[in-house]
Formats: sequence, C-alpha cells, structure tokens
Amino acid sequence: MARVYIGLGSNLANPREQLQSAVQAMAQLPETEVAGVSSFYASDSLSPGQPRYTNAVAALDTGLAPIALLDALQAIEASQGRERKERWGPRTLDLDILLYADQVIDEPRLKVPHYHMHARPFVLYPLAELVPESFQLADQRPLSQLLADCPFVGLERL
Ligand code: ATP
Ligand code: MG
Ligand code: MG
Repeated sequence: MARVYIGLGSNLANPREQLQSAVQAMAQLPETEVAGVSSFYASDSLSPGQPRYTNAVAALDTGLAPIALLDALQAIEASQGRERKERWGPRTLDLDILLYADQVIDEPRLKVPHYHMHARPFVLYPLAELVPESFQLADQRPLSQLLADCPFVGLERL
C-alpha cells in the first residue's frame, strides 16, 4: 500500500457536497482506504471572475499504481459532471495527486509531486493537518518551510 495525498477542489454546483461525494467515491475504489480528510477551506479563485473554491486534502492508502489511480480519479471527476472546456475553468470537481509515497513521477499524463503544490496555500494548509510536523517533500524541503513561504492569505478555514 502506498500513502497518497489528493488535493480536492470545487467551485460549482454545491462545492462542499462535491467534496464529500468525492471522498465517498475514493473510499469505494479497489484496494483503497481513506486514511484522513482535512478541514475544508474556502479560497479565491486563481483565475479572475470565478466563484470561490472549496478545497481539502485527503490521505489515501492504496494498492493502485499511479496511472491506475489517476484513471480512477478522472472517472470520479467525470461522474460528478466535470467538464474540461478551458484550462483552469470553473469545475464541479478537481482531484489532483499531490504526492504518491515518495515517488517522483514525470510522465506525459502525470507529474508527481504536483507541480504547483508548494506555492498553493489551499493545498499546503490542509496537507499540514494530515502529516507530521517533520514532513518533507521528495526534494527534502520541509513542509514547515513551505508554509512559512506561503502565507495563509485569501484562505478561510470552514
Ligand atoms: P492544475 O494542474 O494547475 O491544478 P487542473 O487541476 O485544473 O490544473 P486538470 O484539467 O484537472 O488541471 O488536469 C490537466 C491534466 O493534468 C490531466 O489531464 C492530467 O493528466 C494531468 N496531470 C499531471 N499531473 C497530475 C497530477 N499529479 N494529478 C492530476 N492530474 C495530473
Ligand atoms: Mg488542480
Ligand atoms: Mg486537476
């Protein structure tokens, strides 16, 4: 089993319920258990003119290989009405693989650690709820340092 962290986000069609449904759906995946879910947070969209986002992070223990997990997460997004019209457009559900054990993955469909997680407060603060204080990313940067460099700005813990 690999410990995996998933970033959840939604800014359409009752975001809180979207996140709750997504957690339930992830718990139903084969060889997968939900080990923890952070608080929910509200944040302004990075793209102007969009509704505010609701975000959270979930910890999974899974026997699914990385690409199989990505396929499963994309199927959950699709089943909850995710449409991909424009990049970074508003969405019912976004499920991103933030970390997959300590693996570094660089494939066309999957880059892990997620490329921008270290600069996104709506990822780092919920992640910090689920990991020990000494937690480090694959490149040895301690989470405490990332948090210090990424102020809790525009974020609201729900
Ligand atoms: P961002 O990546 O900036 O958070 P996004 O989540 O809105 O943007 P999506 O439209 O959800 O982007 O995904 C675009 C593509 O990113 C997907 O088709 C997927 O193959 C790829 N991808 C690469 N790395 C990852 C990852 N770690 N988790 C999820 N998708 C990934
Ligand atoms: Mg995303
Ligand atoms: Mg995504």
